Amino acid sequence: MQFSQVIGQSEAIGRLRQQADGGRMPHALLFCGPEGCGKLATAWALACRLLCQHPEAGDACGHCPACKMSRAAVHPDLHFAFPVVKPKGSKGAPVSDLYLDAWRQQLRTTPYFDRATWLERMGTENQQAQIYVEESNLILRKLSLKASQGGYKVMIVWQPELMNAAAANKLLKLLEEPPEGTVFVLISERPEALLGTIVSRTQRIDFMPIGEDELAAALERRNALDPATARAVSHMAGGSYARALTLVSTDEEADLFFDTFVSLMRLCYARKIKDLQLWSEQVAAWGRERQKHFLAYCQRLVRENFVYNFRQPAMNYMGKREADFAVRFARFINERNVMGITAELADAERDVEQNVNPRMVFFDMALRLIVLLIQ
Ligand SMILES: [Zn+2]
Repeated sequence: MQFSQVIGQSEAIGRLRQQADGGRMPHALLFCGPEGCGKLATAWALACRLLCQHPEAGDACGHCPACKMSRAAVHPDLHFAFPVVKPKGSKGAPVSDLYLDAWRQQLRTTPYFDRATWLERMGTENQQAQIYVEESNLILRKLSLKASQGGYKVMIVWQPELMNAAAANKLLKLLEEPPEGTVFVLISERPEALLGTIVSRTQRIDFMPIGEDELAAALERRNALDPATARAVSHMAGGSYARALTLVSTDEEADLFFDTFVSLMRLCYARKIKDLQLWSEQVAAWGRERQKHFLAYCQRLVRENFVYNFRQPAMNYMGKREADFAVRFARFINERNVMGITAELADAERDVEQNVNPRMVFFDMALRLIVLLIQ
């Protein structure tokens, strides 16, 4: 990872580069900002820069032996601590090292990810992840070793707000008397949940959501999206590349959602009750998360079709197939029914969330849409 590979965040990166170039690294940094905006990517790029043997123009060179190790997240002076769950059947408190392979895989895939993705990678969905006190002991042990290459040691702590009290107190001690040559980078989405005494030992850097244009450009370049789709995805992602990746990686899902939305609208308009029942059964067979995503998707598409009627392309965010469909469909979404349709979709989403029988939820919703669509 190099600074040049981070999306946007030029202000934060500019400051870190200056500090690194001037050899004035604070011993502890606190990166704050919303999920998916690139805090971990930047921390990793900073580590690569600090550990690189021949930095070029303020960035890691990317090809020296140290860079190769840092890029694979296996550099002996680059350490990570992150929340983990207890493996099934184990009694003792787990530490990050237990999940280090999964962590490295995740980083190599992308350093833009959210907590849910990390839980999934650890093979769980519902457990609470935590940083246990054993982790702080381990951090102390790792950092008390001399840097293997004689330079910096970097310790990246992801989501330190998930440290239990004992772990946080031990970390505080470490920050009060930092081991020689160490740079801590704490990465937090909820700095208000950290001990005030920890925060006051760090230099805080605030990250902003990635700008919509920057994110769209990154999606075109990295994910080979066409410009219109990149813009639509960027708009939906709200400045989070992690969220954008979820939206993109479910390309298949996007097609499925689009097709399912189109058939719902056609069947409602044609008042094909029997077919709508079949439709409801099909959607009811999906998982709950997918049903919720689908209903959120429908709300977005209804909004986009309503906006389409105003002929203001700059305010419209649709992919190619969606835009083609809007040419004929948009006129059915108007000022008389847009609120009602959106409310039906939102109600259905809430009912799914609350575990109401999905066949009923989707079929009842379809019946009400029949009435709303002809208004
Ligand atoms: Zn290098």
